Amino acid sequence: MSNTNNKPAIEGGTPVRSTPIFYGHQYIDDSDIQAVVDVLKSDYLTCGPKIGELEAKLCKITGAKYAVVCSNGTAALHIACLAASVGEGDEVITTPITFAASANCALYCGAKPVFADINPATYNIDPASVKERTTAKTKAIVAVDYTGQSVELDEIISHAHSNGITVIEDGAHVIGTRYNGKWNGSIADMTTFSFHPVKTVTGGEGGAVLTNDENLYKRLLLFRSHGITRDTSLMEHEVDGPWYYEQIELGYNYRMTDMQAALIISQLDKLPMFSARRKEIVAKYNAAFETVESIFVQKEIPESDTTRHLYILRIVPEKLSIDRAKFFEALKAENVCCNVHYIPTYYFPYYEKLGYKKGICPNAEKLYSEIISLPLYYGMTDEDVDSVIEAVKKIAEYYAV
Ligand SMILES: *Cc1c(COP(=O)(O)O)cnc(C)c1O
Repeated sequence: MSNTNNKPAIEGGTPVRSTPIFYGHQYIDDSDIQAVVDVLKSDYLTCGPKIGELEAKLCKITGAKYAVVCSNGTAALHIACLAASVGEGDEVITTPITFAASANCALYCGAKPVFADINPATYNIDPASVKERTTAKTKAIVAVDYTGQSVELDEIISHAHSNGITVIEDGAHVIGTRYNGKWNGSIADMTTFSFHPVKTVTGGEGGAVLTNDENLYKRLLLFRSHGITRDTSLMEHEVDGPWYYEQIELGYNYRMTDMQAALIISQLDKLPMFSARRKEIVAKYNAAFETVESIFVQKEIPESDTTRHLYILRIVPEKLSIDRAKFFEALKAENVCCNVHYIPTYYFPYYEKLGYKKGICPNAEKLYSEIISLPLYYGMTDEDVDSVIEAVKKIAEYYAV
């Protein structure tokens, strides 16, 4: 860094970047566009051949036996809870450091979300806190692979299964990650994916649930589509004719279109490339920040070979004269436009009105007050990465105490 440029832009100095960079951006190439155009020229815009093709591809990539694709990651969590028979009177344990959907899916089913605290080094849900908050009412655990790092699946699954609890892995961040050599998506009772544009692989919108359990698979199919079946073995009345079908559950229209499916299939071909580049950027950030005293670098468990969806810059407030909000504003002035993932779910007014109080997950609350999500996406150039590092170091050094 040159001496003339060490004054932060927020104090009147020159910004590190002349144009803004944002925390995430999709990468769409000509083959993705062609895949969507081909569907538009075909006979099926929905319920067509691309749906089964995508489901088979997700199974092939992850090693899961079954996949059910749906309209988005939130719908995936909802049908996963329904397939697990989550209902009134049940409790569902999840982390507060996640997108609201991880807890909302329990509320959709009439169940009560119970928040467990996180591990302060990995930021993922702490199995010890999960055990401590398990009761006779616990029906499911929604374990979020925050930032793309796998949760401690072995411990969570063995605790859950010895207590008759279903493990739903909210894998919205995890596509491309392996746990103990197995792809996430093939391990938990059910794993959900999201294909929102900021995620590693996108379909504009889209979601999926992966499972190895045939019974859960059949239930997921029902809840995706109105609770309607054409499978005669599931019917209660006599078959009236070849047109006949029955509604046997209350399901939803959570279908995915063939345009989305075609886009996701095309994107999945680039997953190894997306994954490699994200790992490269994370390694550069880690190497640059490990030596900065006012920055804590997220710890990885050795079991997780991580494709990172988010890069979390965590400040050490005791080593800085500014707080997270000022650090965030200072980066913005350098044209590094970040975000914060996430506000603890139970801070929201909706949850507050349900009776949740601050203080229930101290590690999560402390984490929230110290984090900033830095830009991380496939299309970042080396210059982009360097400029983010330069901006972070400039702010950290200028305000160091
Ligand atoms: C994005 C996300 C979701 C929801 O996915 P959508 O496809 O946006 O509905 C759920 N959980 C987590 C952790 C997410 O990041």
